[in-house]
Amino acid sequence: MVGETYAKRLAKLGIFTVKDLIYHLPSRYEDYSLVSPISRIQHGELVTVKGKIESLTDTLSKNGKRIQKVTINDGTKNLEIIWFNQPFLVKTLKEGEWYNFSGKVDFFGRSITMISPEYEKQYEETKEKSSIHTGRLVPVYPETYGLSSKWLRSRVAPLLKQITPGLVDFLPDEIIQRNHLLPLPQALNQVHFPQNLKESEQAKRRLAFDELFLIQLATLKRKESWQGKKVGNRFKIEKPQVLAFINQLPFQLTDAQKRCLWEIYEDLGKDRPMNRLLEGDVGSGKTVLAAGAIYLAYLNHFQAALMAPTEILATQHYQTLKRLLEPLGAKIGLTTGSINVKKNRETLDLWIGTHALLYNKIEMTNLGLVIIDEQHRFGVEQRAKLAKENQSPHVLTMTATPIPRTIALTLFGDLDLSVLDQMPPGRQKVKTWVVPHFKRSSAYQWIRERVKGTEEQAFIICPFIEMSETMQTIKAATVEFENLAKKIFPDLKLGLLHGRMKGKEKDLVLEKFRQAEYDILVSTPVVEVGIDIPQATIMMIEGADRFGLAQLHQLRGRVGRGVKESYCLLFTDIMVGKPFERLKAMERLSLGMDLAEIDLKLRGPGEIYGTAQHGFPDLRVASYTDLSLIQETRREAEALIAQLTHYPLLENELKQHLQSSIAPN
Ligand code: ADP
Ligand code: MG
Repeated sequence: MVGETYAKRLAKLGIFTVKDLIYHLPSRYEDYSLVSPISRIQHGELVTVKGKIESLTDTLSKNGKRIQKVTINDGTKNLEIIWFNQPFLVKTLKEGEWYNFSGKVDFFGRSITMISPEYEKQYEETKEKSSIHTGRLVPVYPETYGLSSKWLRSRVAPLLKQITPGLVDFLPDEIIQRNHLLPLPQALNQVHFPQNLKESEQAKRRLAFDELFLIQLATLKRKESWQGKKVGNRFKIEKPQVLAFINQLPFQLTDAQKRCLWEIYEDLGKDRPMNRLLEGDVGSGKTVLAAGAIYLAYLNHFQAALMAPTEILATQHYQTLKRLLEPLGAKIGLTTGSINVKKNRETLDLWIGTHALLYNKIEMTNLGLVIIDEQHRFGVEQRAKLAKENQSPHVLTMTATPIPRTIALTLFGDLDLSVLDQMPPGRQKVKTWVVPHFKRSSAYQWIRERVKGTEEQAFIICPFIEMSETMQTIKAATVEFENLAKKIFPDLKLGLLHGRMKGKEKDLVLEKFRQAEYDILVSTPVVEVGIDIPQATIMMIEGADRFGLAQLHQLRGRVGRGVKESYCLLFTDIMVGKPFERLKAMERLSLGMDLAEIDLKLRGPGEIYGTAQHGFPDLRVASYTDLSLIQETRREAEALIAQLTHYPLLENELKQHLQSSIAPN
C-alpha cells in the first residue's frame, strides 16, 4: 500500500495494481557489481565500496553551495565521499554504521572521491547478498517526477519476496520446456534483480514470450469466433458477368489486382463470412477491386455498404463507383454529415458513407457485403457491430497502411491478407528532398516558380499536432495559411482545407483547387487519405519529423498522379541523428512497406498505425521485430487454442490481458 501522493505518481507511470508494479520493468541496469577495497579503487571506475562512516559534515562552500562530506573506512583506507545540496543526508546516514556506496570514482580537487553515489545500509556480520541499490546490477526504471528508481526498487524487492514463492505459473509445463523458458517466479525475480546480464536476458525472453503468446491467443480467439459465423446466403460466382465487368474497364488490371480479386471472389463464394484485408500502396488500385466485389454482391441480389473515413473520400468513392457500376444497373446512395443523396435505403444496391454514420445505422435488410476503407482499427469494432448472432455479412477492409510481416502475424493474425504489391503501369517516382530550415526561402522561391502562371499546383501540409483534428491543429493551419498568403506568397492564390470544415465547404475548396483557381492548397493532414488532383505536382510538408514515415508516404502519394514529374519537400528543423536519418529514408525509398519497416524498428507500431488510442499496444518487453519469437508464440498458440479451457490459469491471464491492453475500446 502507498499513500495518495505516491499513488498519483505511480498512476503517471500506468501503475495501478501490484501486478502493474511488478511488470514495471527496468529499462536498464547500473553495473555496481564490482566491489573493491578502498585502497584499490581507481579514477573512472564504477565501483561499490563498503565502509564504516567515521565522520559526517555539512558545510557551506565559497560559492554558496552546501556540501555534504562523509569519510568512510573499510580497514584498508579512508575515503571521502561528497554530495551537493542534500543536507538531509547528514541526518539519514549514521556515524559508526556500515554502508555500501556505489558510483563512479572521481577527483575532487586533487584527492580521489565519489560524488553523489548510491548508498545502502549494510550489516557487517551478515554478508548475504541482500543489497538492492548497491554492490550488484541495479535496476533503473522508467521514472517520473517524485518517483525515483531507488523508491521503486525499495517497493519492488519486498513485493517480489512476498509474491513469487507462492506464484503458480500460468504457462503449461510443456510450453515452458519446449521453448526453454524460465518459470515465471524466477523470471520476475531475475528481471528486476539479475546476478548478471545473461540472467536478465533470460528473464526478458520469458516475459516477452508471455506478452506475444497472449496477443496470439487473443487474435486466434477472435478468428475462431468469426469462423463460427455464417453468411445469409452463399454468393454464386457469376463468372461470365464478372469477366465482362473486368473487360469493360478503361484499363487492364495488373496481375496483382487479378490475384487479389480472385482471392476476394473465392471468399465470397463460401458460406463463412469473408474477413479479408486488402493492402496496397497509395494508387495501387484498390477501388476497382471494391467495385468488383460490390458488383458480385449486386449480381447475387445482395446489398453492399462502403464506409470511408472522411467525407471527402466517401464523396470521391461515390463518384468513382457511380461511374463504374451505375451503367451496369446498380443503384447507389451517399450519406455523409452534410450530404444525403436521398434515396430509399431499402432499394439501394450500394450505400456509401463515412464510418461514423454507416456503422451506427447499418440496417439494410439484405446486407451481404461491407467494405471498410482506410480504417486504422481494421474493422475489429465494426465487425463486432455488424455480426448479428451467428450471422454476418462479408467484410473487406482496405488499407494503404503497409503491414510488416511480423505485425501481420500478431495483431492482424485473424485476418486473411491480400497484398497489391504491384503498381499500375506508368507511375513515376516522386522526387523527394529533406529541406533544412536555412533553405526554406529558396524552397519557397522554387515552389513559386513552378506554380505561378503554370498548370502545376502545390499542397502545403501544416505540421501534425495531434491525431485528431482538434481546434489546436486547425488554429495552427489557419495561422500558417495567413502567414503564407500575406507574407510568403502574396502574389499567388491560396486555399485552406481542414477537417472541421463542413462537407460543402470542403468540396468547394477542393473543387476550386481542382479547377486551378488556387495555385496552392494549404491543409491539415486530412488530405492524407484519398484525394486525387492529377495536376498537383508538389507536396510540401511542414514539421515533417513529427509524422510517421508511412504517413509521409501517404501524403506524398497525393502527387505524382498525373504525367508530370512530381516533388515532395520535407521541411524540418532537425538535421542530425536518428530523426534526420529517418527522414532521409524518404529520399531513397518509394515503397510504403520499406518505410514502415524502418519506423517499426525505430519507433514502434504506434508510428505506423497512429497512437495507442487506435488500439495498437506498444509492447513492454517483446518487440514487433522479433520474427522468431513471434513465430514460436504463434505456433504454440495455434496448438493450444482448442484446449484453452483445460488451462484455467492461462485462460484467466488471457482474460486480464483482454481487459487491459487490446480490448476493442
Ligand atoms: P488506391 O489503391 O490508392 O485506392 P485507386 O483505386 O484510387 O488507388 O486507384 C488510383 C488510380 O489508378 C485511379 O485513377 C484508378 O482508376 C487507376 N487504376 C487502377 N487500376 C489501374 C490499372 N490496372 N491500370 C491503370 N490505372 C489503374
Ligand atoms: Mg483508395
